[in-house]
Amino acid sequence: MTEVASDTKYVYDFSEGSRDMRDLLGGKGANVAEMTRILGAERVPAGFTITTEACVAYMKAGQKEPEGLDREVAEALGRLEEHTGKRLGDSGDPLLVSVRSGARESMPGMLDTVLNLGLNDESVEGLASKTGNERFAWDSYRRFVQMFGNVCRGVPGDQIEDAIKAQKKEAGVKDDTELSVDDLKALTGRFKDIYQDKTGEEFPQDPQEQLSQAIRAVFDSWTGPRAVEYRRINRIPDEWGTAVNVQQMVFGNKGDSSCSGVAFSRDEVTGEPEPSGDFLINAQGEDVVSGVRTPKDISEMRDVMPEAHGELMKILRELESHYKDMQDTEFTVEEGRLYMLQTRDAKRPAQAAVRFAVDAVDEGLLTKEEAITTIDAGSLDALLHPTFAHDAQYECLAKGVAASPGAAKGEIVFTADDAVAAKDQGRDVILVRPFTEADDVAGFFAAKGVLTSEGGKASHAALVARGMGRPAVAGASDLEIDLSAKTVSVNGTTLKEGDLIAIDGSIGVVTQDDVELVEPDINENFERVLEWSDEIRRLGVRTNADTPEDAKRARAYGAEGIGLCRTEHMFMAQDRQPKMREMIMAESEEDRRKALAELLPHQQEDFEGLFEEMAGLPVTIRLLDPPLHEFLPGVEEVAQDVERARIERTEDLEELERTLDRVHHLAETNPMLGTRGVRLGILHPEIYEMQVEAIVRAARTVGERTGKPPKIEIMIPLVAYERELALMREMVESVCAQEGDESLELTVGTMIELPRACFVADRIAEVADFFSFGTNDLTQTALGFSRDDVEGSFLPRYIETKVVDRSPFETIDQPGVGWLVRLAAWVGREAKPDLQLGICGEHGGDPESIAFFALAGLDYVSCSPFRVPIARVAAAQAAIDS
Ligand code: PEP
Ligand code: MG
Repeated sequence: MTEVASDTKYVYDFSEGSRDMRDLLGGKGANVAEMTRILGAERVPAGFTITTEACVAYMKAGQKEPEGLDREVAEALGRLEEHTGKRLGDSGDPLLVSVRSGARESMPGMLDTVLNLGLNDESVEGLASKTGNERFAWDSYRRFVQMFGNVCRGVPGDQIEDAIKAQKKEAGVKDDTELSVDDLKALTGRFKDIYQDKTGEEFPQDPQEQLSQAIRAVFDSWTGPRAVEYRRINRIPDEWGTAVNVQQMVFGNKGDSSCSGVAFSRDEVTGEPEPSGDFLINAQGEDVVSGVRTPKDISEMRDVMPEAHGELMKILRELESHYKDMQDTEFTVEEGRLYMLQTRDAKRPAQAAVRFAVDAVDEGLLTKEEAITTIDAGSLDALLHPTFAHDAQYECLAKGVAASPGAAKGEIVFTADDAVAAKDQGRDVILVRPFTEADDVAGFFAAKGVLTSEGGKASHAALVARGMGRPAVAGASDLEIDLSAKTVSVNGTTLKEGDLIAIDGSIGVVTQDDVELVEPDINENFERVLEWSDEIRRLGVRTNADTPEDAKRARAYGAEGIGLCRTEHMFMAQDRQPKMREMIMAESEEDRRKALAELLPHQQEDFEGLFEEMAGLPVTIRLLDPPLHEFLPGVEEVAQDVERARIERTEDLEELERTLDRVHHLAETNPMLGTRGVRLGILHPEIYEMQVEAIVRAARTVGERTGKPPKIEIMIPLVAYERELALMREMVESVCAQEGDESLELTVGTMIELPRACFVADRIAEVADFFSFGTNDLTQTALGFSRDDVEGSFLPRYIETKVVDRSPFETIDQPGVGWLVRLAAWVGREAKPDLQLGICGEHGGDPESIAFFALAGLDYVSCSPFRVPIARVAAAQAAIDS
């Protein structure tokens, strides 16, 4: 543990800081210092910042100020007094200060602030006579007592509110602003009494004492429950601490030539180039944000304070071009004079981010590279899916994992078949299941959205839904789904089949309300950002697609090929399943081959569809991966059928018994670690042979038909030993030779999804043309975490207790699983320098993971169609950052 040395400087005047000192001075402190430098000291009220290091030292010492802090604060205060020509607590012309938090990353409303500090029974009189405004002075004092009591000593807000109500009632007025000087004096007295009741002490009159208590309170607010929860959700480290900014107060509540407000350099919702914001005449900053009074639109300021408005508009432009980003500011006008209190990069929704990026380039404010880095690539999801309307009011029925983005609403159905039937009748439905399985896939197509009570982001429901662009909420564990009664109950409410339900898979919310949905908006601006991204990025972007529809959509979104076609879905369709079962049930190789021969034309047709859509681009086809039992009904289901057949003495008894035997035979304790992937290919080579035949024939057909044969990459899953791949390679080569097609462009490679494969990647590379990292299974096998279960079991607790800060299935675990990826990429290329490297796990669509894969030297990422645009932007950002 590093101790902070006692000669550490804990306090910096605003004139000493700059935007580069964000870690030390916090965002607010660094930006106020920067503004002071660029706008001049007259425009920014003076002050000083107590560093985040001081807060960290305070926390480490068990809520005790580090040595030397008091002295440094006193000295900085002395300089501030000299600069302003006023003294804190002076009974003639007092200096008043605000004491505000300011962490490295903004945590809006989570940390504490005290305004008007320095007022006491004497200085309030000084302020009144100096300003000639007694009402203003007493209004400021009552605000201070109220805020100090609440923030520094925990005086409950409702007691304060009750006192205000009582005072207004006594005075016979409705609004705070109607209270007279005497009313305000009486109100201040009430607040002081409440303070004394609560703390057992008189309200502190010594301004130095007020200041040190306020600084302490801001430090303490860092570890308050609100802030801790906010940091957990936003993944902000607890160790950072907050800075404290002590700044000369300026007053927006000095009458009609004064105001306070917030202003954005551009519209913060749409990104349009017109500044936006709110202001309130004769008010302090907290009135604007608290909603006590309704603020006016900033454009109206032009009529009432034209000069200050003009200056503000000019400053907003100046700040924007200095920071090279859209700004979010706070300002105060005190008797006609404009002061800027803070500025920061504006948080904005995706459409505003895109609009700003494009306009900023057109205006010559930013280069394309700079513009692209101002966009949060992950947020672009919102532009590709319907969402709940921005201002929609609804009651949340249940929460679950945000498994696949977008919003949907429709009638509840409980089975895939019902979803298909409803779609045929033109009804919109949401498929509600405890969890989903491979043969529910048709239901995904038919439904508008999917809701499950089990599973997480890596569950079957989530994967399939993301791949198809269906919104999904998974693992909504409060739902009790009764499939036989066709009802779902949650916290005392029971919904039945046909009832309306709405889900938002971007935020994991379920509601019964008929919420308005807003359609996505891929506009010209977004297209331009994507074009620039393509000019800049070095990583290729492919898609995971199993159907021509997915492939088509992905190409429209800019995919440069297919990085993963999971062929299992081709065995699932209604017309294939019986043949697939026949194949699995076959007792001899001959029977199996017969069943496979019947499946072949179907597979060939599927591949043709894909190849046509991809028109000559690379298509990576993964041969069958899941354990065979997934294609058979469950043990219990067949056992019940056998029982029924025995009782009813039906003819199919023998057949059913055979199925039960086979199901038992294929059952495994750990199917994910069982007979799947390449192991199937070694046990039953005829399955893979049929797939390769279908691929080769489809490629030839499409080549002849369109003149654009695909670049085929045959991919073998779950390889751990180089010999496994060597055997499969021989098989592929022998099928190709049999098919006699010399001209076909075809390579053979493997998924790298087991730790052993990473360690022996050099040996595997000898027999591979390419690697594609299957980071879903690699995460599962490296961590020993079940990808289908963790999010619903221990992961939330792991996040809460900070074992991990997010799901490793969402963002690659860089030091662990990521290290395996780097190792395999490195040793693989040592053995074969032109080895092609890609990634097709879910991480291929996650911006943070994409940056990592770019650094690891991969050639491309492959992700679900709807994440392709995000991946293009994230890949450009990775190239810019490197
Ligand atoms: C993987 O494991 O990362 C992968 C892409 O394959 P699947 O998700 O189909 O197991
Ligand atoms: Mg896998």
